[in-house]
Amino acid sequence: MKKHNFSAGPSILNPEVIKKASEAVLNINNSGLSLLEISHRSADFVAIMDEAQNLVKELLNVPEGYSVLFLQGGASTQFLAVPQNLMKVDGEAAYVDTGAWSAKALKEAKLFGDVEIIASSKDKNHNYIPKGYTIPSDTSYLHLTSNNTIFGTQIKEFPSTDIPVVCDMSSDIFSRQFDLSQFDLIYAGAQKNLGPAGTVLVIVKDSILGKTGRNIPSMLDYQIHASKDSMFNTPPVFAIYTSLLTLRWLKGLGGISVIEKMNEEKAALLYNEIDANPHFNGVAAKEDRSLMNVTFTLTDESEKETFDILAKEAGLSGINGHRSVGGYRASIYNAMPISSVQALVDIMKKLNK
Ligand SMILES: *Cc1c(COP(=O)(O)O)cnc(C)c1O
Repeated sequence: MKKHNFSAGPSILNPEVIKKASEAVLNINNSGLSLLEISHRSADFVAIMDEAQNLVKELLNVPEGYSVLFLQGGASTQFLAVPQNLMKVDGEAAYVDTGAWSAKALKEAKLFGDVEIIASSKDKNHNYIPKGYTIPSDTSYLHLTSNNTIFGTQIKEFPSTDIPVVCDMSSDIFSRQFDLSQFDLIYAGAQKNLGPAGTVLVIVKDSILGKTGRNIPSMLDYQIHASKDSMFNTPPVFAIYTSLLTLRWLKGLGGISVIEKMNEEKAALLYNEIDANPHFNGVAAKEDRSLMNVTFTLTDESEKETFDILAKEAGLSGINGHRSVGGYRASIYNAMPISSVQALVDIMKKLNK
């Protein structure tokens, strides 16, 4: 039986994407060669990289003056590449602490200079997004995490400021419309909403680079990657090709505005059940609820065994909550069909009979 895959990451991909990716592993473009055994400098792969970069620009309305990079090392390496590329020597940066990933990002930044945590939701185990904080005007950049994968909160309105804004969008990139020109650098590990693990998408405004006076190792230097069109070294070819297939699928659907509506419908279906069903409680503050990761708990923990059996029988996979939150987490990324969300809602209703 095909499972309903609620995994938080690596996570669900569109089945057609997986099928086409497997075909390319056997034989890419009818060349008689595997995607995995052709040069990244070959015409076939250069075309893949170009199309992937162009589709990112098209889908996200990336303005002129930004570079689109597919790098390695995951979002976690961007935690250190960001301060290394953007924090002035003896400088500082401002971070908003909205959960475990923000905390990891700012821990790395502390290796390079002073980090000011200008707002935090730690006091309530990160179940909300802090608002109304003051952003310093004399700091190297502001760092945000748009969607908190573990806690199930999401920034709905991004703060406006004159300092460079950096955002970790690993778990909600391509899921909703936003104005990219408000950001100077965004990054997103592929394995939540784009492709398999192995590449991280970085979109950076060229004019903010090269200003810190730091010596940056080449592999961490965004300017070097940008000047080599994201081919400074061998790029992760399989992850990029599979990401391209997802980008084509998204474009075919009608782009971000269409997937955003679908995501809103899926999330509404699940949150409405959480709110209507006395056996369940939502974890995140209502106004900050994530459209991608829905966190909830049982009102009566003794029903856990019954609910877990119902989930198993219905073919639901990956709904256990992160250990730091407990309860359940349903990750309902772009590729998840509403029928899978309905399958979860159906077993929640069964508990309420
Ligand atoms: C998953 C995730 C990360 C970590 O990504 P890696 O690619 O494993 O380094 C970072 N930030 C957020 C918001 C995530 O969801």
